Amino acid sequence: MGTLKKSHLFYQSQNHRPVLDQARGIYMWDVDGERYLDGSSGAMVCNIGHSNEYVLEAMRRQMDKSTFGYRLHFETEPAELLASKVAALSPEGLDKVFFVSGGSEAVESAIKLARQYALASGQPKRWKVISRFPSYHGCTLGALALTGYTSLTKPFDPMMQAMPKIPAPTAYLDGLNPDDPETGRHYADMLETCILEEGPDSILAFIVEPVGGASTGALVPPVGYMERIREICSQYNILLIHDEVMTGGGRTGQFFAGEHWGVAPDILVLSKGFSAGYVPLGAMIAHNDIVDAVMAEGGFLHGFTYAGNPLACSAGLAVIEQIETQGLLKNAEDIGGVLKHRLVGLMDRYPFIGDVRGMGLLLAFELVSDRNTMRPLPKELAAFDLLVDIAYSNGLIIYSRRTRGGLEGDHFLVCPPMITTEAQVEEIMIMLIKSLD
Ligand code: PMP
Repeated sequence: MGTLKKSHLFYQSQNHRPVLDQARGIYMWDVDGERYLDGSSGAMVCNIGHSNEYVLEAMRRQMDKSTFGYRLHFETEPAELLASKVAALSPEGLDKVFFVSGGSEAVESAIKLARQYALASGQPKRWKVISRFPSYHGCTLGALALTGYTSLTKPFDPMMQAMPKIPAPTAYLDGLNPDDPETGRHYADMLETCILEEGPDSILAFIVEPVGGASTGALVPPVGYMERIREICSQYNILLIHDEVMTGGGRTGQFFAGEHWGVAPDILVLSKGFSAGYVPLGAMIAHNDIVDAVMAEGGFLHGFTYAGNPLACSAGLAVIEQIETQGLLKNAEDIGGVLKHRLVGLMDRYPFIGDVRGMGLLLAFELVSDRNTMRPLPKELAAFDLLVDIAYSNGLIIYSRRTRGGLEGDHFLVCPPMITTEAQVEEIMIMLIKSLD
């Protein structure tokens, strides 16, 4: 496979990966012409597939007009159109849109808006943001302080501002039935306990990924959990932030995952599937009351230079139009159902698959030593990297992370683009089985 002999780039690992040449639909090719099926849509990003001609054409048209207009100097039509589209898709009352260029920026913006709101509404003592463990909210220092992923946070301890965390609802590890409303209540009530311990008047917000992403591997909340979380936040006057960076944009079968439970947050953030890999783009969408209060006190004192540039917004708008015209939410649900069924079937063949989980096309399986105890695989096996490497050599890209807060356990996200067909699901399964064998 085509790799570079020497590179000046450095990332997380030493692994040398193929050099990308082209990508189209759900496939990618390296410079030697080797083909890979993008079984993880990048990092759950390229939801509508690569090189979508409609999006490229929209970007070309915008490029011919202007690529950048600083947001404090110009309003732009693409930004206005995209903001009104996003507001229309968002829960009632969340009509105010703030653009950024990625997920971490969106989370930072949400924390800062919440903080300014607390000041504007006469509650200056509220500053703590409760999050969950495990969780992932980004790599900038503010977003990292909310992240529950020990191997990513430990190198930077002590955190500039460590924040309280409650356990994520890992019913499958705790021997609890996720379909029992008692289970949902059990985990949600941990939020209330945390609020009471920390002091309700010091809590600004609670941030949650409706369906867990990189940290928990497609963890679907137990029945009643999301609804109870909403109740608790309202009861204690705490802002609820949905981190939909991975789930937003349709991956779970609804444009926002929160819609599955009919709960609306006060602030929501999205990024990856929003521009589906065509440009760096993200957004924070906030309730009108929050933004009105902050704007009345002199405005939101925050912003990133590239935010909301017309090129990024033209791409974002075209991506949403493609999701709508191609019926991709329904495809994510239907094809996700087919793929999940096939993944669950693998549990008969491989006793080391301990769990298959997820919804829509946000799906994962977890490898364990013992399915009954869910004991993880020994570290030496390093299945985390090994399976990914083998899958690569078989032409399949899957995304792996060490689950349970980054310390132990191996999960693999199988999240192809939302344009995937049933025949392509079979293709994925053939490559996956070859790799697992
Ligand atoms: N929140 C969640 C739920 C994410 O999955 C990610 C990225 N994996 C982020 C925030 C951070 O996004 P970015 O990498 O674009 O900064």
